[in-house]
Amino acid sequence: MNQIKRAEIICVGTELLLGQIVNTNAAWLARELSLLGLYSYYQTVVGDNMDRLEASIRQAMDRSDVVFLTGGLGPTQDDITMEAASRVSGRPLQLHEPSRAAITKYFRSRGRIAVTANNWKQAMLPKGCIPLPNHNGTAPGAIVPIKKEQTDAFLVLLPGPPSEMNLMFTESVVPWIREQVETRMRHIFIRMIGIGESSAETQLMDLVEKQENPTLAPYASEGEVVFRVTQSMKKNEPDLTGPLVDEIKRRVGSYIYEIGNRTMPEVLRDCLIEKKQTISFAESCTGGLAMSRLTGYPGVSAVLRGGVVAYDNTIKTKMLGVDPSVIDKKGAVSQACALAMASGCRDRMNSDWAVSITGIAGPDGGTAEKPVGTIWVAVKGPGISDSIQLKLAGERNKIRRIATLQAYNLVRRYLVH
Ligand code: ATP
Repeated sequence: MNQIKRAEIICVGTELLLGQIVNTNAAWLARELSLLGLYSYYQTVVGDNMDRLEASIRQAMDRSDVVFLTGGLGPTQDDITMEAASRVSGRPLQLHEPSRAAITKYFRSRGRIAVTANNWKQAMLPKGCIPLPNHNGTAPGAIVPIKKEQTDAFLVLLPGPPSEMNLMFTESVVPWIREQVETRMRHIFIRMIGIGESSAETQLMDLVEKQENPTLAPYASEGEVVFRVTQSMKKNEPDLTGPLVDEIKRRVGSYIYEIGNRTMPEVLRDCLIEKKQTISFAESCTGGLAMSRLTGYPGVSAVLRGGVVAYDNTIKTKMLGVDPSVIDKKGAVSQACALAMASGCRDRMNSDWAVSITGIAGPDGGTAEKPVGTIWVAVKGPGISDSIQLKLAGERNKIRRIATLQAYNLVRRYLVH
């Protein structure tokens, strides 16, 4: 087997160089490659210029087993990645009939009968490549083998638009990579909230340091602490992760909200669905973020009733029935106001649970008594009335995101029992 180990990424596009678009493809691909157990050593961004692109590909091929390219597969003049791959590999471009048919079908399905001539350019692929179908667009991708002195290396060409790239990678490239490598990676994510990163690390440090296979390592995540258990295994080897996961549960189990891939909003949604209960939100400083993030996940309509963005104090009183004297005496960022917001929201939305968030996200508005980052989160539910004060650090939007996460968790804790 031709083992591939060293990978790198080249993202093609002058828009990327000019900062007009953010290179999310590189971040996404790098994460996926690491989960697949490939080593990523370099990332390059190069504009739509044939000489520089060709030079970048040649340099990457010299030092890596597989080079992933994104962008520049479109129909226009400045889309040159396939041509560059053809030149570097010495494989001439030739018409790939199934891709031509797929492009026609794609346009027909969208009511366009006439396909412009330049669209056929996208069906021209290097001779002897593995074509990769595009189920979210027109440009096919390709895996192009390149002869090196000892072994073959590969170029993997993917489209620029993230929705096309992600699907093509998952559908076609992941199975191909799995065939090229002997060892597979089994990953288990352990997601915790309410524990500081350093405290978690201290409690798990000996496992991080001692474990060889499976390994344990922290995984960067905002507002929560995530550890990744990884077993590297040959085909048909048994799962060895159980004892390590059990040991982690024994040490920090009370903070764990998920062992697996679900994010906090998904866990909350699933808890509510399982218990057949509904929720609503009253939000001040998060401005609808808690509602919005939750609605990003399918199936939430079964449990989410609605919400009120009560930014101004008059909205807190008029729409949520918060007693103005509460705001006068205690302030809008107070336990009393948060509880009253949740209470008013639950009554008006007729939901089993209501969660409120009120706080100072900054950068202005802080006082000595209530500095920026002071947030009150409250929950009202069947026989439940609870609240927490958060003291968050960071910039405005980070504070808003973490407050949202903590608000989800406050109600989740009542739903798991
Ligand atoms: P198309 O067939 O749509 O022309 P393409 O493969 O030629 O696709 P580009 O023309 O390079 O891709 O980019 C198309 C769009 O894809 C860009 O305008 C941008 O929105 C997105 N895109 C491209 N590269 C990246 C990247 N590295 N990260 C995030 N988005 C990207």
